[in-house]
Amino acid sequence: MREDYVKIGREIVLRLLERYSDKIREEDFLAVYVSKDHKDLFTILIATILTQNTSDKNALKAFHNLMKKTNGRIDPENILNMDISELEMLVKPAGMYRRRAKTLINVARFFINEKKSIEKMILSRECEKLKEKLLEIEGVGEKTVDVVLLNIMSCPYFPVDTHIMRITRRLGLVDERAGYKEISSFWRSVVDEVYYLKLHLILIHHGRTICRAIKPLCEKCVIKDLCRYREKTS
Ligand code: SF4
Repeated sequence: MREDYVKIGREIVLRLLERYSDKIREEDFLAVYVSKDHKDLFTILIATILTQNTSDKNALKAFHNLMKKTNGRIDPENILNMDISELEMLVKPAGMYRRRAKTLINVARFFINEKKSIEKMILSRECEKLKEKLLEIEGVGEKTVDVVLLNIMSCPYFPVDTHIMRITRRLGLVDERAGYKEISSFWRSVVDEVYYLKLHLILIHHGRTICRAIKPLCEKCVIKDLCRYREKTS
């Protein structure tokens, strides 16, 4: 990692922390919100899958539907006992409901089949092995697993969503075609792991409010002097 880029990254983090620290609301980030009351991996994974390619607001509606249906206890058996069409209707607010319901069923089956090995990895805090294991589930990708393991076990992963990918590429601190691993690795080189979750949330907030995909509000941006985006608006 280029030392001068890491230095700029640290300055960016300081400014974003100062600007947004008191603006982050847990309910705007479903995985964080859910992990306050639910400490089990399965529930956080289900909640995070509901957020894939949709807003946290829509995902929250689908999550509440599932909670209501299962009397506040989402577990693999509850999911598998549901009729597929009923499950599809419950997750419909999150969109792509057929695919999403199928993924939830894959997850539930996987947790039943691999119950013992998953529990053992959680107890012994084997982040890397657990990550590899969860990535075996069809429909579950690296970002989802990183979000879950960072939230529930403070595993040293830095999840990169579309906002973080866009912002980091625009800043010019990674190659403009940089992928998930490169961007995640860049931010991990900038801050200590105790700040990964906070920085992850702050970058997403910046992407939602200022560094938007279309027409970013560069004139209002607290890091505009550090950004190399060619189409900056000021
Ligand atoms: S200056 Fe514009 S493009 Fe650069 S980070 Fe700020 S909002 Fe995004």
